[in-house]
Amino acid sequence: MNTEIYPFKVGDFECMAVSDGTWTYGPPIFPPPAAFLFANAPKELVDQALSEHGIQPEHWMAYVSPFICLMVDTGRHRVLVDTGADGLDPNTGRLLRNLQAVGIGTGDIDTVILTHGHDDHTGGNTDAEGEPAFPKARYVMWKEEWTFWTSEAGRLYEDVEIAFIRKNLLAIQHQLDLLDHEAEIVPGIRAVAAPGHTSGHMAVAISSKREQLLFVSDAFLHPIHVEHPEWHGAIDMAPEQVTQTRHLLLDRAVTEKTLMLGFHFPFPGLGHVVRKGTGWQWQPIRRPDQD
Ligand SMILES: [Zn+2]
Repeated sequence: MNTEIYPFKVGDFECMAVSDGTWTYGPPIFPPPAAFLFANAPKELVDQALSEHGIQPEHWMAYVSPFICLMVDTGRHRVLVDTGADGLDPNTGRLLRNLQAVGIGTGDIDTVILTHGHDDHTGGNTDAEGEPAFPKARYVMWKEEWTFWTSEAGRLYEDVEIAFIRKNLLAIQHQLDLLDHEAEIVPGIRAVAAPGHTSGHMAVAISSKREQLLFVSDAFLHPIHVEHPEWHGAIDMAPEQVTQTRHLLLDRAVTEKTLMLGFHFPFPGLGHVVRKGTGWQWQPIRRPDQD
């Protein structure tokens, strides 16, 4: 069994969570994981939440984060959500290999949705020659997000990172469609405004035959954010907006009983949100291969 691909259905749509690999966040480049992910949270509450999630706080020195892209075959369209990190690290860039393993080539994909500009979500936009990796695809992202990364505002980021992001964004501009409002991208797949992590961060709602999947991308960086939507990551650009966005997405996930997929959650990143008291709780799916 391929442990880097997880197929599932949403109504009539054939979906797959596809791993692009993992990235280890920790010192000296990043703060320790608890400070990186829960920057404004009191330590004793974080320690308690971590223990409830089976993580020993005193041993949590680095966060090995999955990168999970989503492939959706609607029958009419083959849609990829986020392109992974490609050459960012030897442990990333596995997306294309994993798609090829199930017979999907880069020319088969007609739509690429980019939830935001960060390098772990756009690194696979281009090939080794710097050309669009998905030659026939329409790339879609939020207009404000594009403007941020391609303008001077994006300069707030370190030079190496901004160069990597710009290379991967500018190369696709002739195939790019920019959205400035929530809209259907292809039948059954809608863009949902989810700002805060970045200014033009987007979630994606997939629906078929009354079943729904909400790809929340980086609105939640860790399942603990479902239970503590007020704890933000050090990398979130607008923390208060992140909390607001999370509340909207969580309400929607509960009310519409959607499946949810977090890009950085433990693979395959899928689960449901349930109400717990006045808050919410994350319930990862039970994988048939782990029974
Ligand atoms: Zn990310």
